[in-house]
Amino acid sequence: MDREYEIYCPHCSWRPAAEDRWQCAPGCGTVWNTFWTRGLCPGCATQWQDTQCLACKRISPHRKWYHLPRKARRAATRKKRVPTAA
Ligand SMILES: [Zn+2]
Ligand SMILES: [Zn+2]
Repeated sequence: MDREYEIYCPHCSWRPAAEDRWQCAPGCGTVWNTFWTRGLCPGCATQWQDTQCLACKRISPHRKWYHLPRKARRAATRKKRVPTAA
């Protein structure tokens, strides 16, 4: 798992836990934690683009679940060149 990112629902901020499971449906019916494989079904290798939230039931693109932590975002901002007042 990529530790640079925080994973939570873009709608309700629910954070999936290690014991949460998704099902490949319609598909092969495999049940797994989709965040371990970034949406790739281990049963049939289907790359799921969308992930449903188990809390609010809304469906979002899988990549929208990955959020940069505040600290990393601030570091990225600092790298930008900003003109300073003379
Ligand atoms: Zn599958
Ligand atoms: Zn949600």
